[in-house]
Amino acid sequence: MRESVESTAEFSVNMTCESCESKVRSALLKHGVQDFQIDLPSQRVIITSTKITEELKNVIEDTGKLAVLIGVGGEGRLQGGEERVHGGGDVPRQGLGAAVAMLGKDGDYFTPGVKGVIRFNQIDRSRCIVEGTLDGLEPGEHGLAVHEAGDVSRGCHSLGDHYNPRGTRHGSPENMEEERHVGDLGNIRADESGRATFRIVDPILKVWDVIGRSVVVSTDKDDLGQGNHPRSLVDGNCGPGLACGIIARSAGLGENLKKICACDGVTIWDERNKPLAGQGRQDNQPETSY
Ligand code: ZN
Repeated sequence: MRESVESTAEFSVNMTCESCESKVRSALLKHGVQDFQIDLPSQRVIITSTKITEELKNVIEDTGKLAVLIGVGGEGRLQGGEERVHGGGDVPRQGLGAAVAMLGKDGDYFTPGVKGVIRFNQIDRSRCIVEGTLDGLEPGEHGLAVHEAGDVSRGCHSLGDHYNPRGTRHGSPENMEEERHVGDLGNIRADESGRATFRIVDPILKVWDVIGRSVVVSTDKDDLGQGNHPRSLVDGNCGPGLACGIIARSAGLGENLKKICACDGVTIWDERNKPLAGQGRQDNQPETSY
């Protein structure tokens, strides 16, 4: 389903004064984003839109401020009587769960090669937004699928088949439920620079079923079960995985209150340029951003 569905993203932004706030406000408005709340004292920006999270982050960071996504939520606003996640006022609706996968060659985001971040946001029981940005791809289409296992001991080769709890055939995410795997996410298209950005609304994939599994972007295009190759009904003959990552739970709105990492005192804005562990964590050489 490629329909436009809103979701909410909560960013921690290192705004320190009212002029920073007004810069962020004008940048968002300039990009057609109108539904947002900026809270200067808590350094938070909460945005409800149909845009990809990465794009919103870039709009904020183009003002010279650093933005870290700290939570995602559902569509629209809370109605009277619904439980509130933030105190007071007209607040965005919490989602039903969220997850994130950091993809890289052999399942390691920090290995040079194809890499990117894919987010899953269950805005209600029948809609999961799957969105992300991947870089380093050959221009053109590449298959994208959730696989059954989260075992990267042999890189992208030990992740099992497409996630298929109902024992159905491979197909397109646009197909009837029995003519696709739950894990089938179709194709993403990389532009001439090798970047693919996408935002899909899936009716049958559920965040709580895929946490601990993996997501894989393939070398070739997924034929969506329409080809003549014997693998067409297995995996769309999409070739080996180029990059993959384990799907891990991530925070909902208002769930992530930290500003400083307890382990080494790095602020979340510095930390966004650091690996979660390993050598890059100790030295001061920012390698990547996620
Ligand atoms: Zn499949």
